[in-house]
Amino acid sequence: MPVYVSNLGFPRIGPRRELKTALESCWSGKTGRDALLETARTLRAATWRRQQALGLDCVPSGDFSFYDQVLDTSVMVGAIPAAYRSLGAPDSLDVYFAMARGTQAESAESGCSHGRGGADVPAQEMTKWFDTNYHYLVPEIGPRQRFELTTTKPVDEFREAKALGIHTRPVIIGPVTWLLLAKPAQEGFEPLSRLSDLLPVYVELLSRLRDAGADWVQIDEPALVLDLDDAARAAFRTAYTEFAERVSGLKLMLATYFGGLGDNLDTAVALPVAGLHVDLVRAPEQLYAVAEKAPTNLTLSLGVVDGRNVWKTDLAAVLDRIEPVAARRTKLLIAPSCSLLHAPIDLALETKLDPRVKDWLAFGVQKLEELALLGKALNNGRESVAEALATNAASIAARRASPLVRDPAVRARLASVDAGWSVRSTPFAERTVMQRAILDLPPLPTTTIGSFPQTAEVRKARAAHGKGVLDDAGYNAFLREETARAIRWQEEIGLDVLVHGEFERNDMVQYFGEQLSGFAFTRGGWVQSYGSRCVRPPIIYGDVSRPMPMTVDWWRYAQSLTPRPVKGMLTGPVTILQWSFVRDDQSRADTCRQIALAIRDEVTDLEAAGAKIIQIDEAALREGLPLRRAAWQHYLDWAVEAFRLAASGVRPETQVHTHMCYSEFNDIIAAIGAMDADVISIETARSKMELLDAFATCSYPNEIGPGVYDIHSPRVPSTAEMEALLTKAGESLSATQLWVNPDCGLKTRKWEDVKPALENMVTAAAALRARI
Ligand code: GLN
Ligand code: ZN
Repeated sequence: MPVYVSNLGFPRIGPRRELKTALESCWSGKTGRDALLETARTLRAATWRRQQALGLDCVPSGDFSFYDQVLDTSVMVGAIPAAYRSLGAPDSLDVYFAMARGTQAESAESGCSHGRGGADVPAQEMTKWFDTNYHYLVPEIGPRQRFELTTTKPVDEFREAKALGIHTRPVIIGPVTWLLLAKPAQEGFEPLSRLSDLLPVYVELLSRLRDAGADWVQIDEPALVLDLDDAARAAFRTAYTEFAERVSGLKLMLATYFGGLGDNLDTAVALPVAGLHVDLVRAPEQLYAVAEKAPTNLTLSLGVVDGRNVWKTDLAAVLDRIEPVAARRTKLLIAPSCSLLHAPIDLALETKLDPRVKDWLAFGVQKLEELALLGKALNNGRESVAEALATNAASIAARRASPLVRDPAVRARLASVDAGWSVRSTPFAERTVMQRAILDLPPLPTTTIGSFPQTAEVRKARAAHGKGVLDDAGYNAFLREETARAIRWQEEIGLDVLVHGEFERNDMVQYFGEQLSGFAFTRGGWVQSYGSRCVRPPIIYGDVSRPMPMTVDWWRYAQSLTPRPVKGMLTGPVTILQWSFVRDDQSRADTCRQIALAIRDEVTDLEAAGAKIIQIDEAALREGLPLRRAAWQHYLDWAVEAFRLAASGVRPETQVHTHMCYSEFNDIIAAIGAMDADVISIETARSKMELLDAFATCSYPNEIGPGVYDIHSPRVPSTAEMEALLTKAGESLSATQLWVNPDCGLKTRKWEDVKPALENMVTAAAALRARI
């Protein structure tokens, strides 16, 4: 039997972000719903046809989504919380978009949703999909949730493709993963306990897919690569035994990805399914164990092309590993490691990339081409595609040998780094005394996290500069004016430690990536982050260094305008790594250390220019945690080390801040302590300071600014509210440790909200000061 070539899922946003445009135009009321539906249909058809033309044996359907595949599943099984049910028919886009985005002011004018009668409902909670930068909407399951098949989206899309003459393999999220991702509607409740009530809905769905003509269905259960307890493993057996008993005539391809099956391998291979997909990019070592343990009648789908990164696959290396397996097993598929949702769509659209770097890359379309080639080589012999294989080998060899990826100076410098580089010369207890003497700040000093509103004018000026309509001098003059205004205003309202406002930055990673060596940027390499929001992660292809200071001039200018201290503002090495496509020819830890040295150079230059406070943001440190607990410590060790490497080149008098905009610290509190930042600002406003417990229980010694202003909403918090939060913080921490600041940067807010909110914050701090 031949080896079949398959795909697990394709990006739905469209090669030119057509879906984004259509969604936003519909939400703003510019176009109607029919236009949105039409765009979606056109995109689906084009995606299917394209995959068919690329020679795939197995094209997915149901991977399309108007917002998120987890939300699709929630709506499909009827898990729609009561607050949204009153907004329309349960299968309507009104309800769907309300769950996705809420129905507050911004969508109130939406032509896309009507008949809500002025309801004001928040969106469902959103969180990251496994260890990707994609966000899903968290299902909410309670003891009385009724499950029923509410939409037949997978069936409809299967039929839609069939009508175009394309026989697809529908993709759905499996019941166990979906329940494991859910949060309990009330505390202490276990969503997984509802499995037996949920299964009949899946049985009905699968039966309908079969009746519509599907022979295979891909059922995604990435939870199988996580640490699972016995109850979760038993849930897999229960679910898949039930499907095997109650749905005949349909084959299930159980898809696992983002890691190895590890200690869940025995559970996975024993499930009564027809096929199993395994990720051989994240976990290449599992090939032999899987091939050995999988019964011979189990169809194996081997994820051999990286669905999470942008590099060309070394096709010969894959063939070397797969050919022996193909010789022994008859039922074999090859596929990307996971859905291509996490990769940019088409490299062919990149016209401005350095051609040498471009030759090393493969985006979604190119990855499918690679799979088609691999399929031919496996089925007809390597000689049948000798020329294409030779071209691939040449690219792989060129990348390996290229002087672009290796900078001897960077390597020599890294080799010379010793342990002393990542330790401040003086312990915190002594540093803080020196810093207090120099900075002369009041107790409970007030500050902000860095950015001020990126207004329409700021974005317009940046766009004009990008297009060359506004020259460098004009753009700079504009930015200086914005900065000066921000400094004046901060002085006026009486903030203690000022920021320059970050008006010159498009994005906290891109701004630095554009100035560092070893980074490349795409024009159209968009990846969906959530809903209509897409990001264009930089590509780290070579050794990283900092040819020139990146922020010093802006800092110097801002500081020249005021006697109060202005913070130097940098993005940390772990966050830059985490939000980029990272080279795969050395460890992430090594790449991170290189970035750390580049940031260290900036830190010491800021100090030399006179900065007394330097903030190094590590917004993404926590989300870098590996999926398996056993791997956490190793990650935290090198991540913390990288931060310290970036931060420790300064004198003890220089105060290093860090900022983390999330509120789950329990798992990483020891690592946070080990970072040894003089001050850390964190997100706490929404969680009502609860997370400070983690800091209090471990007697966190350094200074902390727990956010007192939730910047995620336009709401202006009152003085009393912020005072109450600060008082609460004072119960777990000593007043000498506390700073007063918002939860995060203010770039997404409007000045009209920011001004009163920060004025109230300063007043709250003053009130509290008077009481201590
Ligand atoms: N300094 C950045 C800002 O204020 C931090 C952003 C973030 O943590 N996400 O925008
Ligand atoms: Zn933040």
